[in-house]
Amino acid sequence: MKLICIGRNYVDHIDELKNEKPSSPVIFLKPDSAVILKNHPFFIPDYSNDVHYEVEVLIKIKKLGKSIDVKFSHTYYDEIGLGIDFTARDLQSELKKNGLPWEKSKAFDGSALIGKWVNKNEFNDLNNLNFSLKKNGTIVQFGNTSNMLWFIDELISEVSKFFTLKIGDVIFTGTPSGVGKVSENDLFEGFINEKQFFSIKSK
Ligand code: MG
Repeated sequence: MKLICIGRNYVDHIDELKNEKPSSPVIFLKPDSAVILKNHPFFIPDYSNDVHYEVEVLIKIKKLGKSIDVKFSHTYYDEIGLGIDFTARDLQSELKKNGLPWEKSKAFDGSALIGKWVNKNEFNDLNNLNFSLKKNGTIVQFGNTSNMLWFIDELISEVSKFFTLKIGDVIFTGTPSGVGKVSENDLFEGFINEKQFFSIKSK
């Protein structure tokens, strides 16, 4: 099982990090060792002084696929989730500056929170989902999937050009603005519409 993550998929987040708008989706991977085990906290790694939270809508792949046409993308998933792409921002900035791969800052152990899964039929329109992240009870990130540069079905098609999608693979679809620093003993709670998808503390 692999995690396929999309970077720079919301213009407001591209602007807050002063990145350039990409002409095709920015894609990176996390290994399965990045997934936070059930009921475990997020452990802040000791090699970073500036780990950020990035709340993202998730898609779970349900069948094998390669070079999927956009019009068939919807047949490759039934479940929608919400998670956090934890990022060692200081390390990532250093790697970006030097033109190096991001993995050490993005794909480290415990860098991926996957909340609960819900059948996509529970939602009227996947391209118009409100989602949010609360930190210590205050909303710090709020997004709507209508603001994605590439929608879910487009992402599945694009990703599958490069990587064969397998059952159980998870796509992280990118984060809206509002990313910020994780401190010890923060409580993070994620929501799509009013429904809670996760609750996790940092250590
Ligand atoms: Mg992200």
